[in-house]
This record gives sequence, structure tokens and C-alpha cells, in this order.
Amino acid sequence: MNSINDYTDIVGFETIEEIKKIGSYLSGKIIQNINSTPVGGGVAEILGRMVPLMKEVGVDARWDFIKGGERFFEVTKKMHNSLHGMKEDITEDDFRHFLDVTDENLREMNLYGDIICIHDPQPIGLVKIKNNNNHKDKKFIWRCHIDLSSANVKTFNFLKKFIEKYDYSVFSSPLFAKKLKIPQILISPSIDPLSDKNKDLPQQTINDVLEKFGIDPEKKTITQVSRFDRLKDPLGVIDVYRLVKKHVDCQLVLAGGGATDDPEGIEVFNEVVAKAGGDKDIHVFKLPPASNIEINALQRASTVVLQKSIKEGFGLTVSEALWKSKPVVASAVGGIPLQITHRHSGLLSRTTEGTALYVKQLIQNPEYAKQLGENGHEHVKRNFLITRHLRDYILLFLKTGFKEDTVYL
Ligand code: UDP
Repeated sequence: MNSINDYTDIVGFETIEEIKKIGSYLSGKIIQNINSTPVGGGVAEILGRMVPLMKEVGVDARWDFIKGGERFFEVTKKMHNSLHGMKEDITEDDFRHFLDVTDENLREMNLYGDIICIHDPQPIGLVKIKNNNNHKDKKFIWRCHIDLSSANVKTFNFLKKFIEKYDYSVFSSPLFAKKLKIPQILISPSIDPLSDKNKDLPQQTINDVLEKFGIDPEKKTITQVSRFDRLKDPLGVIDVYRLVKKHVDCQLVLAGGGATDDPEGIEVFNEVVAKAGGDKDIHVFKLPPASNIEINALQRASTVVLQKSIKEGFGLTVSEALWKSKPVVASAVGGIPLQITHRHSGLLSRTTEGTALYVKQLIQNPEYAKQLGENGHEHVKRNFLITRHLRDYILLFLKTGFKEDTVYL
């Protein structure tokens, strides 16, 4: 695990000193993060890096998970999809089950934090205890990582009753803000440039990973790294590859693992394998948790990285690829346009045909592809690194946890 000082070379001495200074103001406060899975997906990815760094700068940050059975995660996945605007049949019984599991977690969990930061909808109901005597002095933050801009009204209204009990809500993009009675704070997610997923790799490591997965190092490679989730449109990615392949020889890498709070993964993976239909140039991999070096190498070995999501919260995989100076073609959804300015730091697309056209253009114009990748790297360096994120969180916790007149920045 890297130390905060290791980031000095990337973001500069002053930034690091400022983070340490403001972190020290939180001394004595416990920040308890709660989500629904320790591995898989962007939230776990961020917390796994953020919590140790917070501790190092003097913030007593902790990380706990709620528990839920298969049924609970089926319900929360349906809620997740419907909050992204997809059609889902969520029954009254489903909502009741969600509330029952929330109550079970409230009985079993210790909410010991001074500031309790709840991530996403699965644990949202824990805020019910906010006005109980033991918890009256605590502050509750709801950190939403989802694009709520086209949320299903019924599902959103169910959650809204909880959201408005929080002291603050946090969204990844101004576009996701909702009409709420509580303050809404904008904090974009981030990647860790020094993690195994993003650090520089020796060429030999990249070659070893390609060999392990049977990928041809000489052939142009289109890659999408994502959970096997319909909202990531892996089937559409195969359509893109087939359109591109009519014009240029290439191979496709579709790699992704699961998350313990995502029950749809296996079904979608099987659909992808069936659609690939034994094409030797389509490499579909189910990655085990913590395949960070593998993902890093696959992204670095790509000619073009795709993120063909139908809906997206932020899309960390986009920043991961841009950090590696890769040209990215991605759907203009959710937080992706925050990361890609069209024709400057990548290419934004809205259709399968458009995506294929852009991929073909980039494969055929390596100079243009290189320029986009370099601009993308700079953009991520300025906006989406973990140090910026850490600073934003510390400032939010200070605002939340102290009377204003005791904070001197
Ligand atoms: N990821 C991973 N293994 C996988 C698939 C994805 O470690 O098999 C990582 C990916 O590199 C990224 C995160 O999980 O860091 C996914 O975050 P993103 O915001 O792209 O999507 P989410 O899964 O949260 O919808």
C-alpha cells in the first residue's frame, strides 16, 4: 500500500501537505463508511484505496458492509436498474423485504461512527436510527454513485423518504442532482494512480498477462473491462467489434468479474459467451476478484478502450484507461462526459454504428489516437485522482462534523 507521500511526484508537495493539514483537523472523529460489498464495482474499488489513505492523514476512517441474502441483492439490483431508468417490476413484497433486511442489519450492526457515510441505495435505510437517543449527535451522509437523472419515480420516491433524513447527500455529477430538502454536494469519483490497477507496468508483465490469456500481442485490440451487466452492454460491444472487423483485422477483449451484490453476472456472462460463438478473436474472461495487475495490463495492451454503457454512474474504467493514455470510445451517458470531452480527450458515441466508426478511425489513425490519449491523461491527472477526492471528502467531513467557527483552513 502506498503512502500519501508517494503521490508527491504526481500532484506536488503543496497538495499533499494541505491534505495532511486538513486531515489533522478531523482527529478524534470516526468516519464510518458502509456499503454492500467489499469487492467488485467502483464503490469497493474506491473505498479500498481511500480508507487506508484517510487513516494515514489522521482521519479515523472505517469500512463496514451490510449483509443480505440472495433475495435482497436481487431486489437491490432491480432497484439499481430502475434508478438508472430501466423497466423493472419491483413488487410491494420486494420493498417489504428490503425494509426487513434493513431492520436485520440495524439489529446486528454497530453504528459507532461520528460521521456515518452510507454508499448507494442498498444500506440507505440504516438512517432510520438517526433520531434514536444514542445516535442523535451523529451526522449521516448519503453518497450516491448512481446516475439518478432518469430514475423511476416509484423507486426514487421510496428512497427519498430515507434520503431526506440524511444531513447531506453527495452526487458524482451535477446532472444527477434531484429536488431534495437536504444539501447536495458534488464530489466526483477518482482512481488511484499508484494502485496495482493503474501504476506503470514493465512491458514484460504486460506480455506475460497477454500470454496467460492467449491474446495475440501483434493484433489490434479493442477492450472493455466491466462487470457482466446489461447496463454495460457487453453484447453491443460484440456488435461493435463485428462491424469494425469488416474493415480492419482486430481482436476483442471483454473482461470482467462479478460483485457479491450483483446477482445477474453469470447470466449475462453466458449470454456473452453464446454471442461470441467460438470466434477465436473474441476473448471473454471472467476475472477473479483483485485481478488488478491483469486489468492494468489488458488496458495498457489495448489499441482502443471501449465503455459502451447504456447507463453509467461515473465509469471508473474510463478514467483508468485515460490515465494509461489510451484512446477511449465511450457512450455519452452518466458521468462519462465529465471524463471525455468529445474529440479532445476521447470520443463520445450514442449508437453501435457510431461507436464502430470511431473505433475504426482510431485504429487507422494512431497519431490522432495518441493525442486523444495524452489529453485524456492530463484531464484525469487534473480532475480524477484520489488525492483530489480525498481532499473533497475531508472538507465535507469537516463541514459536517464541526461547527463552522471551529474550522480554520
Ligand atoms: N473491475 C474489476 N474487476 C472486474 C471488473 C471491473 O476490478 O472484473 C473494476 C474496474 O477496473 C473499475 C471498477 O471495478 O475500477 C468498476 O467501476 P465502474 O465505475 O467502471 O463501474 P461499476 O462496476 O461501479 O458500475
